[in-house]
Parts: sequence; C-alpha cells; structure tokens
Amino acid sequence: MNVVFLGPPGAGKGTQAETLSKKKNMKHVSTGDLLREAVQAGTATGAKAREYMEKGLLVPDKLVVDIVADCLTKGGNNSSFLLDGFPRNLAQAKALDETLKKLGYKLDGVFYFVVSEKTAVKRLTGRWLCSSCGANYHELYMPPKKAGICDRCGKPLGQRPDDNVETVKKRLKVYHEQTADLIDYYKKRSVLNTIDADRDVGDIRNDICGVLDSLFKGNK
Ligand code: ADP
Ligand code: AMP
Repeated sequence: MNVVFLGPPGAGKGTQAETLSKKKNMKHVSTGDLLREAVQAGTATGAKAREYMEKGLLVPDKLVVDIVADCLTKGGNNSSFLLDGFPRNLAQAKALDETLKKLGYKLDGVFYFVVSEKTAVKRLTGRWLCSSCGANYHELYMPPKKAGICDRCGKPLGQRPDDNVETVKKRLKVYHEQTADLIDYYKKRSVLNTIDADRDVGDIRNDICGVLDSLFKGNK
C-alpha cells in the first residue's frame, strides 16, 4: 500500500505522517528530512541540495527522484510507503509512476492537505524541532513543557533556517507555481482525497485514518 501526502509547506503533513506511519506500519519517506540528513552528513548530494533549500527552491528532480527510488527499492516487498513532500512537480510524479511500475507497486491514494496561506505561514514560523530526536513542536499550538527543551529527550530545540518569513513566502510561491498542478493530475486518476487540514491534529488524523483503513481493506 503506497500513499502520498500532498500540500503546501506548513500544512501539517510531517506531523500526521509521523504518527500515522507508526500506527499503520508504513515507511515514512520525507524527501525534506532525507535532504537535510544529506546536508548534515556533508555528502555531495547534500552540498548541492543546500544551495536550493536555503533559497526555498526545489532541488533538481534527479537528486530527489534517485533518493526516493533508492528508498522504495530497499524497502522490501511487503512494505507500505507513505511519501511526504514527494512528488513536488509533474516530472517527479511521472518518475514516481515509473519507479512504482518497475517495482510492481501501485499508488493507492493521495491525501491533499488544504490550509490557508495564513495558517501555513503561522505554523512554519512557529515550528521548533528537536536537534537530537527530531520531535516537532509549535510555540503556540504544540508547545514543549519547558521552552526550548524537548519533552521527549531533554535536548535543545531549534528552528529550521528556511522557516523564516521571507523563505516561507518563497516556498509557498514555489508550491503554487510547481506543485499545485499535481492536484489535477491525481484527481483525474481518482486517487485524490481532500483533507481539511485547518483543524485540530486529532480530527485530521481520524479522517486520514478512516481512508487508510478502507484502502488497506481494498488491498487485501
Ligand atoms: P509540513 O510537513 O506540511 O511542512 P508540519 O507537519 O511540520 O508541516 O507542521 C508545521 C508546524 O505546524 C509544526 O510546528 C507543527 O507542530 C504544527 N502543526 C501541524 N499540524 C497542526 C495542526 N493541525 N494544528 C496546529 N498546528 C499544527
Ligand atoms: P520540506 O521539509 O518538505 O519542507 O522541504 C524542505 C526543502 O527541501 C524544500 O524547500 C526543497 O528545497 C527541498 N525538497 C524537499 N522535497 C523536495 C522535492 N520532492 N523536490 C525538490 N525539492 C525538495
């Protein structure tokens, strides 16, 4: 079973993917996380990706397409994948179709997270992440018990360099110019599930969970 989480930055895809992938035993593949790991590790891919990420631009398709193909190939036959932040344009969507076909998999569903621009900006500029375990907080909506400290592991929290207002606006512009085309692409293929993501985390999770349950049933 393979699904895609589609939507603007700040829609809450990562937050939902983190919980639902565990609950449903799916492999969470976040291209943003994988690219940040490559940047941290100082690999050639990371160095190349960094130039684009800090400007709020999409990194070249070849880099992400190869990373995702590698994850899917290594995932093993009985794996289910939850792709978060990939694909982000039509070329990537077509490359994903090819990779899935080669591996004998299919795309079962796409969850399109709908939020207002105002909500996305507020969520991103208030996002804090644990430097050690990656736990995700929001200074207003999901604050840690102690400001600046991770509830889970006690390590310091930090903000992403691309979560400043200027870069967030650029990322949202890029989303509207390049990624939003995918809504129609997947609607035409009848795999699109539209989720009102401007709500409480638990309500959004319940809706997605219901659709995932029916997709899993259909796959049995
Ligand atoms: P995305 O992966 O789509 O870019 P995230 O899941 O990282 O977005 O969420 C962005 C920020 O918004 C995080 O700080 C997260 O804690 C917060 N957040 C996520 N979902 C909600 C929600 N439903 N209500 C309020 N805040 C949320
Ligand atoms: P995210 O963590 O999804 O907000 O992504 C952070 C940044 O990583 C983006 O602004 C892009 O620079 C880059 N990125 C993540 N996923 C992709 C993708 N599928 N295609 C191109 N660039 C990506």
